[in-house]
Amino acid sequence: MPTDIKEIDLNAYAESCRQEFETALKTLVDIPSVSVDPNHKSDINRCAETAQAMLHQIGAQAEIIKTKGNPLVFGQLGNNPGYPTVLIYNHLDVQPADAEEWETNPFEMLTDNGKYIGRGSTDDKGPALAVLFAAKYAAQNQIPINIKFLWELEEEIGSPNFEQALKENKDKFKTDSIAVSDTIWISRERPAVGYGLRGLQGALVRLKTGKKDIHSGLAGGLARNPIAELAQVISKCFDAKSGKVLIPGFYDAVRKISESDGADFLKSGFTVNNFKKDHELNSTRTDDDLDGAKRIWALPTFEVHGITGGYSGPGVKTIVPHKAEAKISMRLVPDQDPDKIFALLETFIKSECPDAEVIKEGSLHPYMGSTESREANAARQAMKTAFGKDPAFVREGGSIGAVLSMKNVLGYGAVFLGLSLPEHGYHAINENFDWHQASGGIKMFVHYFQSLANLK
Ligand SMILES: [Zn+2]
Repeated sequence: MPTDIKEIDLNAYAESCRQEFETALKTLVDIPSVSVDPNHKSDINRCAETAQAMLHQIGAQAEIIKTKGNPLVFGQLGNNPGYPTVLIYNHLDVQPADAEEWETNPFEMLTDNGKYIGRGSTDDKGPALAVLFAAKYAAQNQIPINIKFLWELEEEIGSPNFEQALKENKDKFKTDSIAVSDTIWISRERPAVGYGLRGLQGALVRLKTGKKDIHSGLAGGLARNPIAELAQVISKCFDAKSGKVLIPGFYDAVRKISESDGADFLKSGFTVNNFKKDHELNSTRTDDDLDGAKRIWALPTFEVHGITGGYSGPGVKTIVPHKAEAKISMRLVPDQDPDKIFALLETFIKSECPDAEVIKEGSLHPYMGSTESREANAARQAMKTAFGKDPAFVREGGSIGAVLSMKNVLGYGAVFLGLSLPEHGYHAINENFDWHQASGGIKMFVHYFQSLANLK
């Protein structure tokens, strides 16, 4: 690859950072920056101040940007108008942790032979620090690039104030490309670079056929049953066995999955068997690995989350319910449009059941980056050089609101340069990170910065 970096020097640099990295990670993990719990508001602020100080320590400019909710930490290393600028997104808020369930104190990081156990170690404080130490190297070695750090403290609660903050600080965050380091490889054996996210459209379907539940001996046979009618409509919306959506036009905008997309999905190490184990599923809709990977990353879904109404206490109560509600959502893929999909759903349900009410719930657009852009190629080279293996390009089945916000406001999609592994326990008990991924991540980001700099 076109690089001026000597691998030996970079290895030595990463090793020389180990102590400092571990100390910094412990400092951050020991602050319980739990965003969902208002009792941790002061910890959130303390985390932001600590992160700001860490940015200052490597010579970056850094500030805390207030929002209506939790602040953002913004850092900038280098400000040369002749250099390209890259913005790296991480988040420093964490999931809650129940100390009773953990083997160690979740907010007192334990270092065990290159393994770092504590809440937030892998999601996302460890990856954030890998970026920080890589940026320090880039500055010390005069890699011609400007690096911007954007650290959010509300990611785990859905980034409610992020887009507004981006709009208010658009000039500050101006960049030539964006990377996000907050995703998980499918297997330790294969680096993964993410490039796509599924979108979402939620809906409530309500049917009211009377004023009150009535006796089924008295009225059954003549009275309509709204629970059963909703169940029937849902069964017409999609085939529950195969998962195939039957709403006319639903698949029209779905982008074809190319053979090379599929090959990369498999290369990632994905298997239905492991998936079943990880998620404790007894069985799945398919046992075929390629079909399985497509189903979670590249195909849309129709899901019923719940049907409410009638009687659900113990035993049987012989009533005919008078109302029912179905809670529905559809995961969407490029190039499905949430508004259009909702309109198709509403029209279809109304045609089957004219007096049903269809209420629109939250929506998110799907996102698709490129596997062939300059940034994607830089990512491919950087992952390969740092971890010794060609990465697989994969997609995420879920949504990351911050990615869509950055695309909307800053005008660039993101490359997902995650460092977390399935065994790191994302959002789970005994969450951990490790030096292999951290040191590899430091080297990977240095190569990524160098590649971007070489492009200019
Ligand atoms: Zn995360």
